Amino acid sequence: MHRWSQLFVPTLREAPADAEVASHKFLLRSGYIRQLSAGVYSYLFLGQRSLNKIMAIVRQEMDKIGQEFFLPALLPRDLLEESGRWTIFGDNLFRLKDRKGADACLGMTHEEVVTSIARNELRSYKQLPQIWYQIQTKFRDEPRPKSGLLRVRQFTMKDAYSFDIDAAGLDQSYRKHDQTYRAIFTRCGLSFIVVEADSGMMGGSGSQEFMVYTEAGEDLIASCAKCGYAANIEKATSRLAPVEDLAPTGDGKPERIHTPGKAAIADIVAFLNMLPQHDIKALAYMALGKDGAWKPVAVFLRGDHSVNEAKLLAVTGARELRYMGTEELETWFKGPAGYLGPVGLQNVAPSQDAPVLGRSFSTGRPLEPHEMRSSAVAVAFAKSGELVTVLDKALESRTNLVAGANELDYHFRNVTPGRDFTPTVTADVRDAVEGEGCPNCDAPIKIGKAVEIGHIFKLGYRYSESMGARVLDANGKEVMPTMGCYGIGIERILSSAIEQSNDANGFWLPPAIAPFDVVVTVTNIADAALLSAGEQVARDLEAGGFDVLLDDRDERAGVKFKDADLIGIPYRINVGKKTAEGLVELVTRATAGDRSATRDLPLGEVADSLRALLTRP
Ligand SMILES: [Zn+2]
Repeated sequence: MHRWSQLFVPTLREAPADAEVASHKFLLRSGYIRQLSAGVYSYLFLGQRSLNKIMAIVRQEMDKIGQEFFLPALLPRDLLEESGRWTIFGDNLFRLKDRKGADACLGMTHEEVVTSIARNELRSYKQLPQIWYQIQTKFRDEPRPKSGLLRVRQFTMKDAYSFDIDAAGLDQSYRKHDQTYRAIFTRCGLSFIVVEADSGMMGGSGSQEFMVYTEAGEDLIASCAKCGYAANIEKATSRLAPVEDLAPTGDGKPERIHTPGKAAIADIVAFLNMLPQHDIKALAYMALGKDGAWKPVAVFLRGDHSVNEAKLLAVTGARELRYMGTEELETWFKGPAGYLGPVGLQNVAPSQDAPVLGRSFSTGRPLEPHEMRSSAVAVAFAKSGELVTVLDKALESRTNLVAGANELDYHFRNVTPGRDFTPTVTADVRDAVEGEGCPNCDAPIKIGKAVEIGHIFKLGYRYSESMGARVLDANGKEVMPTMGCYGIGIERILSSAIEQSNDANGFWLPPAIAPFDVVVTVTNIADAALLSAGEQVARDLEAGGFDVLLDDRDERAGVKFKDADLIGIPYRINVGKKTAEGLVELVTRATAGDRSATRDLPLGEVADSLRALLTRP
């Protein structure tokens, strides 16, 4: 048992003003960490104790599939030159020189180191597969360190690397990590989602991110609790409830109507007594092509939808977007903002025979049919200074819509895509919205900010090729081993757990990763009987296998309760006045604000009661 009176737990009443997210505030206030410099922290007793528990879980699970190494943090330039990453890492890499003037860096990741070991030592397919992992300090010269331990320059990572003889082997190593990661995060008590992701600068194809929903996150993720669908908002799609189209008016052809002063969607909707779902919203962009020229792009989507610019960039193959200025609107639409529409525009025709890119430029996965047409647009776009128009998929097959007439104070009604205008491309470019249907199962999707806690990648031959790793296959032929790499942010597990469970007074960690399972608070140590009862309870709990902190400080009970609520310990036993009747109080930190949730326990039953709580699913 640890006695609080002898520990260094520097709790703070207030967090520094620059601490914005909950985990940053509470890690400082609870005395878990102290900042040394921007993005660099010291881990004090409680913080390190929690991180040790997290690392123990990671080790136990990783040892089931792999072998633990410990690789250098100090890496020579020559090694990173072999893979090209000495240059690719740019300013993110901490670089230094040794006394002889040789360049070196502090490692961000260790593909080159494990590949150099593999190429020197692995000779035969019989030695494969291999899974090597380590838990080690990593360095990254983050330009804007913030959010406590979420965006830092020095951090602890579990990184693992697999070597297999072929793609089927890599699939298996990848699946093992997927299962292991699920086991690790579940044991750590996190509620997480798994997102198919891009592999970014790591290279390769096939990757998943493990994410935790929190306001402190920097990614927006859509997910379905029912079937497990999850996607970054830049790729997420959703099913929409069907919309009943308006009945046609007159002869059913586009009808020009006078709509003075009805530039805003809300105004035209009220004026024509319809819904925003019946309106075509028009957005006019200038898009920077890969050739460095700005080109016009018009997007048409349902009146109540918004454009996802990341999707639009992918569809057009543009690098950057900005809205058109007044003169540009005049050039391409002949009409002012508020009255833009698709009818009568001269746009690039849809191109059936343009070169079709068979694979997504970002992930390498096979393209959906509508995405192939998108890729063709990227090509047409690059060659043309004409207007490219993009119709959002949600308007496909709709009829009798209302759209601007490209003329001040006029709209068209009875506008039907495909009949009255032909967009250059039809593609999903809208934002998915919380509550819309999951694309797989139609259950309502959730959308929120999330933090990445783990990432698994299929690297393929990226490093074995560039660094010359070869083994002999079963036929005695020299082949490259195929690789995977797999990371977990150790501190991010702690930060995410705090983000998931906190209130105004502090936080509570899942017992598996809390610095202690339980704090035994003696309300008044001047009372010898109370102190002795508290010590007995703590000893009983310890004998029962619990990690126990005894609060034997000479402080007022109120101060002790406040501190206990702050520092993340999931359970508290109050040893106070009721001890005379043979009772102590059990407080579950998650419900500490609710006095009625406090339970009285007979002195002799404390360990059994706590065990029942801790083994609850
Ligand atoms: Zn679903």
